Amino acid sequence: MKIELNLLENSYDFIINSFELYSTALEYGIHDPKRSRVDNKVKWKLAFITMVQAIELLLKEVLFRIHPNLIYLNIDSYNKINFKTVSFQQAINRVLNFSEKPIDQEDVIFLINCAKLRNEFIHYKVKIQSEQISPKYSALYNIYKKLYKEFFQEEITFTQQKYQHIEGNILQFNENMTIYRGFEINKNEAKLIQEELEENNKYKFYITKDGKKIPRIKFGDELNYVSNKFKEIESENFAMYEHYDVCDECLAKHGDYHLDGCDLEICPACSKQLITCGCIVKKVK
Ligand SMILES: [Zn+2]
Ligand SMILES: [Zn+2]
Repeated sequence: MKIELNLLENSYDFIINSFELYSTALEYGIHDPKRSRVDNKVKWKLAFITMVQAIELLLKEVLFRIHPNLIYLNIDSYNKINFKTVSFQQAINRVLNFSEKPIDQEDVIFLINCAKLRNEFIHYKVKIQSEQISPKYSALYNIYKKLYKEFFQEEITFTQQKYQHIEGNILQFNENMTIYRGFEINKNEAKLIQEELEENNKYKFYITKDGKKIPRIKFGDELNYVSNKFKEIESENFAMYEHYDVCDECLAKHGDYHLDGCDLEICPACSKQLITCGCIVKKVK
């Protein structure tokens, strides 16, 4: 019964790997908003792929326990040469056909959609939106847990506290997380950022070190501002301010002022990076 152990152990291994990726992806999202979002999104993709893989292995284990040959594409002529195993979708169909325990119809549709998405991630260049993956990921793990209990008559458990903690985090996703301006962040943090942006928007001027009061530049107005001031400006250097609706450093949207310390804010006195130029003494209403 070596294979029996291997399939389930493998599935468990994939869960652990997926949890590690999930935790890395989430840490970037919550604790370090100044980090590159690209790293974050790549981790989401891998966490998702790995979770789908874990479910595929779990389904194969279910089939194996009904009959070992059921994990192979060709049940009748399985031999050492023809040992191709079933695909994700075939595994679901076989479980539905051969197991006495049903899988919820909604879950079946969801699983098949996730498998398709997984294939797109692997085979094509897909634009990844982590805000779309994270709720799916949470739902996917919920199904894994459900299937595990249903088919193996026990709860999946984690001996290491670290993984217990990550699991709890995933299960609570819908309660604790929210999508704020296209980024998934903690609900409390979203509220704080919202308040900070509203308060910050009241400060429309800067006082320079030589005592002048000058208007601040709103996010999205940078290109206009700079090209009005300098005729010969290379506008592509400032294109990022127009191409993105939300500042990926401070989460200001077009029309907001950048939050204090945002390194994308332009100084209205010298048109260089505000946090490093040293022109500004304070902001005022
Ligand atoms: Zn900003
Ligand atoms: Zn300056």
